[in-house]
Amino acid sequence: MALGIPSTRTDRAQTVRDLLAAGDRSFSFEFMPPRSEAAERRLWDAIRRVESLDPNFVCMTYGAGGSSRGRTVNLVGRIATETTLTPVAHLTAVDHSIAELRNIIGQYADQGVRNVLAVRGDPPGDPMGEWVRHPDGVTYAYELVELIRSIGDFCVGVAAFPQMHPRSADWDADIKHFVAKCRAGADYAITQMFFEVDDYLWLRDRVAAAGCATPIIPEIMPVTNIKQLERFPQLSGSAFPVELERRFRAAAEDPEAVRAIGIEHATAMSERLLAEGAPGLHFITLNHSTSTLEIYQNLGLHQR
Ligand code: FAD
Repeated sequence: MALGIPSTRTDRAQTVRDLLAAGDRSFSFEFMPPRSEAAERRLWDAIRRVESLDPNFVCMTYGAGGSSRGRTVNLVGRIATETTLTPVAHLTAVDHSIAELRNIIGQYADQGVRNVLAVRGDPPGDPMGEWVRHPDGVTYAYELVELIRSIGDFCVGVAAFPQMHPRSADWDADIKHFVAKCRAGADYAITQMFFEVDDYLWLRDRVAAAGCATPIIPEIMPVTNIKQLERFPQLSGSAFPVELERRFRAAAEDPEAVRAIGIEHATAMSERLLAEGAPGLHFITLNHSTSTLEIYQNLGLHQR
């Protein structure tokens, strides 16, 4: 179904903040640093295919530790200088001193990157393990937001959780801390993956009822193989919807049917989210563009 959304933009918003303030709906894609040369070639192939769609921005995730972190900084710089895309650099507080965080933010400024997504990160190895603050670092994402904003004129995004952050004691605490993170200087939020539109609407309405108008962009993550039914709840810390899981399990012996259900569900979710007034859609690619491009096409968001 075509949604009557313009397929191209004539002016490229420099920050996600400007784009959302202009009342435009935002369409974006997320990549992660590759682990090998072959994976890097696949990533660039996906980036070039996504570039032809003229999205509003693309994100590069930041690892929990090790060499992938340097790769994020390099890749974000290359996207900024070698493509027509606007990169958003993820940054986490795990195992970083404030001096190191300042240094990374400074590298982004040098590369002309003005968009940063500030997330606290999870402990390497076990996402639900004990979160240990670097002795000279920060504890929560709101402090990272404050730090980035104190360094320069960055547009800062944060994370939101339609099924509540798994470490939050209850919804009241979750909403209170989310709103505090926005008041610390966040311009917008992107959600964790979710599979029921009502979960997103519930979060959005509770945040609005708490007096917070920060736009919350829903993340779309299509299920394309049966193994993801176990993997996604581990990544998101939230259970998979029972009825949807039943549909996938019934098709488990037919990989094409599983993929088709995943694309159909993600397309239907995207349509309803836009109809409900979501400020845009953020697609996870896992560095493969095929299924996200299919959803994009189903939505009538054509290539330029
Ligand atoms: P916070 O906002 O700090 O919240 C963490 C927990 O602490 C919550 O339960 C919150 O309620 C609580 N809390 C917050 N403030 C306080 C306070 N003052 N007192 C007491 N409790 C408080 N991870 C990566 O490693 N790399 C990435 O690139 C990455 N990108 C992501 C992108 C998106 C869109 C999302 C949704 C997640 C991403 N993550 C990434 C995962 C993220 O790091 C984890 O989900 C992490 O557990 C939460 O990060 P946060 O920024 O929401 O933390």
